[in-house]
Amino acid sequence: MNTVTLDFNGKKVELKATKIIAVARNYRAHADEMGQSVSENPNIFLKPPSAMISNNGVVILPKMSNRVDYEVELAVVIKNRCCKVSPHEALKNILGYTIIVDITARDIQAKAIKTGLPWTVAKGFDTFAPIGPKIVPARDIDISNLDIWLKINGEFRQHSNTRNMIFPVKELISYISKIMTLEPLDVIATGTPEGVGPIQHGDSIEAGIEGIGTLMFKAEQETVEGA
Ligand code: MG
Repeated sequence: MNTVTLDFNGKKVELKATKIIAVARNYRAHADEMGQSVSENPNIFLKPPSAMISNNGVVILPKMSNRVDYEVELAVVIKNRCCKVSPHEALKNILGYTIIVDITARDIQAKAIKTGLPWTVAKGFDTFAPIGPKIVPARDIDISNLDIWLKINGEFRQHSNTRNMIFPVKELISYISKIMTLEPLDVIATGTPEGVGPIQHGDSIEAGIEGIGTLMFKAEQETVEGA
């Protein structure tokens, strides 16, 4: 497992998340491109913290998959242990915001959706959660209207705005906290906008959110089968 460090108020912080809770289909245009409907409650799944890599890291494209996709997302970093919080109370439990790319083995996910199996394999490979480069303190940013984008080799592939989220951050925290206790430094990946697509060996990826910065990583094909 990698040690993942992010800048927070000028200091390096190790992001020891106990879990990453990711939200599926939180932008209507992305749900449409996946041919999926939007549900009444947020649709959530877990990514293992062992998938995280820091800014300027390398995403390894696993041999088990023939199609690995990028998904840029606004990430919420939790400050306080909390459970069963109301939307009104939710925001005070946030340390700050950063950028995460929810890397997905799309072919494995498609098979899982068809057969009713969980997404754990598709979403859980090592290096499948680049995150950073810094946590912007919650009090310093209004996340209701921020440009969010992703470029591969300098070309835009995703470009939207956080105002297009279906479930806002306070409702996500409230809903998730009714199911599982949120711990300090847990991460919520709030869903990706439209424009998802594959990454290839040798690609340079830049993911940006207005007011937070740019997260960079490269992609490399796995060469040696894991033990
Ligand atoms: Mg996602």
